[in-house]
Amino acid sequence: MEKNSKYDVVIGLEIHLESKTKSKMFCSCLNDADERRPNINVCPICMGHPGTLPQINEEAIDNIIKLGLALNSKISNYTKFDRKNYFYPDLPKGYQISQFDYPVCREGFLDFKTEKGVKLVRINRLHQEEDAGRLVHASDGTSMVDFNRAGLALIELVTEPDFSSAEEVINFAKELQLIARYLNVSEANMEKGEMRIEVNLSLKEKGERELGTKVEIKNLNSFKTIEKAIAYEIERQAEILEEGGTIVQETRGFNDAKQITISQRSKEDSHEYRYFPEPDLPPLLISEERIKTLKGRIPELPQGKRLRLEGEYGLKDPKTIEVFVQNKDFAEYFEKVATEVLNWMQHKRIDKEKYFDLIKLEANYLTSDLLGLANGEIIDFSEKIIPENFAEFIVLIHNGEINSKIAKVVLKDMYDLKKDPTHIIEDKGLKQLDDEKEIDKIIESVLESNPSAISDYKNGKLASFQFLIGQIMAKSKGKINPDKAKEVLSRKLENI
Ligand code: ADP
Ligand code: ZN
Ligand code: MG
Repeated sequence: MEKNSKYDVVIGLEIHLESKTKSKMFCSCLNDADERRPNINVCPICMGHPGTLPQINEEAIDNIIKLGLALNSKISNYTKFDRKNYFYPDLPKGYQISQFDYPVCREGFLDFKTEKGVKLVRINRLHQEEDAGRLVHASDGTSMVDFNRAGLALIELVTEPDFSSAEEVINFAKELQLIARYLNVSEANMEKGEMRIEVNLSLKEKGERELGTKVEIKNLNSFKTIEKAIAYEIERQAEILEEGGTIVQETRGFNDAKQITISQRSKEDSHEYRYFPEPDLPPLLISEERIKTLKGRIPELPQGKRLRLEGEYGLKDPKTIEVFVQNKDFAEYFEKVATEVLNWMQHKRIDKEKYFDLIKLEANYLTSDLLGLANGEIIDFSEKIIPENFAEFIVLIHNGEINSKIAKVVLKDMYDLKKDPTHIIEDKGLKQLDDEKEIDKIIESVLESNPSAISDYKNGKLASFQFLIGQIMAKSKGKINPDKAKEVLSRKLENI
């Protein structure tokens, strides 16, 4: 759809998150994502045998409360479970235990970054339910069912229809994924089905207040797919409306092979599920005390970390900040090194500007050179270089005791040999050359042996200057500061 289209895009999301718990939602079967053998983690309760009784998994309730709090939601003191009745081969009980009118969390919101600035999306509710099993379709046409997943604790989050583009949807989903991981309530991997996103999308004419008829899109298992499905669905609906047609309220699935959405079924209204209170479970009461305790257990969240990295360490580049926000372990290493940098400065006057300079240098070396040595993979760097040594390395560069060329050599040795930088510099004789006379001698001798480069330079061939610098750096084994070499060389060339 073109930018100046006559329609506004309206999107609301329903997101399922597999809750990280030891056992299933209503029985003591293991929640083991790595179990490859089918139907191992099953019992009469999650298989829905008559006469069995479900029991609420309190660890799962703690998880959903924590996520609700992190999403600025109200936590209900009174909640209850309901049966959502439908038939499907992966649903052994013939119903799913879910929550209908009293969800655990209500009325939250999440604000997150987009291209156009900060966007706030309202969250209608988060409720607790259980997952269904998994159907396995074999190549010979037979289908099998694996109930290991049946009954796992599942959190459903429903947003208000506040999104207006795929970009907003994806940024929201990525921030939610990060929050779930910080809280340790879900791994939230889309590829593994731990986070499943359903997109509800409608169009309305610009300026129109009433929302249009929505279509629900399922089978979206990556951010890329979400982007493609939204683009396709906007086009499809716009075309129908352009021709004066009406949109059918339905569920469509995204077909990866064809890259289009295909109608699956007309959407049920909630009354078709015949919701009724789960008779085998008493209402769940959540005390203020429990909420308070859980609030106290919420760690620093991504947005808090972004602000702190900027305020406490003076980091300015959003890309650098994001590397640390996305990788908790790397951020921890960065902060440990930063503390050590402060220790190195301690004997001198604490100068905030200088400290921020050092930290900026540190962040650069971490995210480019160190990451490069690990082939871009974030590993446990303290195993390779203890934070104290990395801090010392940064201080040496900042004090001009080694230049950036030498720094690369030193860092590689620190990484491979686990030695501290001062010893490496001493052992290899890498200390920067500061003696003016010696620098002069080296440059003079390079000039003497390259008369043609000098005359080329004098005749306007600027590349010769770079060539001479290269010779000087080689002759000094990289020990002259390149800026110093440039300065002395241009002075000398002018006087020739
Ligand atoms: P239903 O009863 O059909 O499930 P809900 O009101 O529960 O509908 O909303 C389901 C999801 O659809 C929510 O994420 C909501 O934000 C979104 N939604 C509701 N109406 C619209 C609309 N007209 N256009 C786009 N999304 C919508
Ligand atoms: Zn079970
Ligand atoms: Mg609904």
